[in-house]
Amino acid sequence: MKRAYNFNAGPSALPLDVLNRAQEEFINFKNSGMALMELSHRSKEYDQVHEKAISDLKEIYGIPEGYEVLFLQGGASLQFSMIPFNFLKPNKVGNYVLTGTWSEKALKEAQKLGQTAVISSSEESSYRYIPSTDALVPTEDAAYVHITSNNTIYGTQWQEYPEFGNIPLIADMSSDILSKKVDISQFSLIYAGAQKNLGPSGVTVVIVKKDLLHDIPGNIPTILNYQTHAKNNSLYNTPPTFSIYVLSLVLDWVKAQGGLEGIENLNNRKADLIYQCIDQSNGFYKGHADDNSRSKMNITFTLPTEELTKKFISQSKEKGFVGLAGHRSVGGCRASIYNAVPIESCEALVKFMNDFKANN
Ligand SMILES: *Cc1c(COP(=O)(O)O)cnc(C)c1O
Repeated sequence: MKRAYNFNAGPSALPLDVLNRAQEEFINFKNSGMALMELSHRSKEYDQVHEKAISDLKEIYGIPEGYEVLFLQGGASLQFSMIPFNFLKPNKVGNYVLTGTWSEKALKEAQKLGQTAVISSSEESSYRYIPSTDALVPTEDAAYVHITSNNTIYGTQWQEYPEFGNIPLIADMSSDILSKKVDISQFSLIYAGAQKNLGPSGVTVVIVKKDLLHDIPGNIPTILNYQTHAKNNSLYNTPPTFSIYVLSLVLDWVKAQGGLEGIENLNNRKADLIYQCIDQSNGFYKGHADDNSRSKMNITFTLPTEELTKKFISQSKEKGFVGLAGHRSVGGCRASIYNAVPIESCEALVKFMNDFKANN
């Protein structure tokens, strides 16, 4: 079988090694005579998978003491609601930085539950840039500041993170988690749907500072309370066992790539290849994001005309490329080059882009 050049935005490419291992172990997990999916989530075999996934994530990121790693469901989208349910008290203000569609959605859920403020927005420029961290000033009585670390649709990414002293910083890292080294202690809560960089859809990873969990209102639904999941080690209800298992295989793979340092180096090389191709195309390809806000995960670009864009996408499909159409809200093209997209796919894309330009 020839693997596709998979540039899907999510769900997206998984490492072939991970898929092979999942296949080998699929029917008879660790000689249990059962598939992992058939095991009780209270079984010894599953418990080992669950614990290993938590400890590997802590090890890979160097997560300090005083943080919980949770495996939840409902995607990153449920976090948009859980955050205000848990942390937006009546006399407080949820602060949001708008850098794209996902931060808008996060804000919208908070607006239903309490007071909010937009402390910065790049909407007027079609979300081409990330605001400078110095320019961000939280409101009085800020409950937290929420950012989207990588904007999957517009192709922008925070290059450094703001610091606000005692005000908790919360980040939606769905599309760049585990793509580079991050100092977790800068954040009070990080969340990410798994289906971009961590594994299959179905599990959402939350890394949360325990201090934040002390004062959660008791009148919110049990399942939406972070304390419920922290107290029960993410086994309050049946977790998505298969997704967590594949996540644990992805973590093994990350370690085998030299951890975050190895992954980050490779991601830099991949992104450089494609941005260089765009920059050296004499304006044939134009990047959507401003240079200093470019994402290393989602590369967004346009062609001179709508007609050429259509032709580009249809010819790319013929050549085995998948997922290069831009999001419907931005148009143009997008190459999502998450961790598991091999550099060979990026090289093939650059060759295709150069050939297409020469022929058109
Ligand atoms: C994909 C994505 C989401 C939505 O994730 P779901 O798991 O589908 O809810 C939210 N935020 C960002 C930044 C994303 O890339």
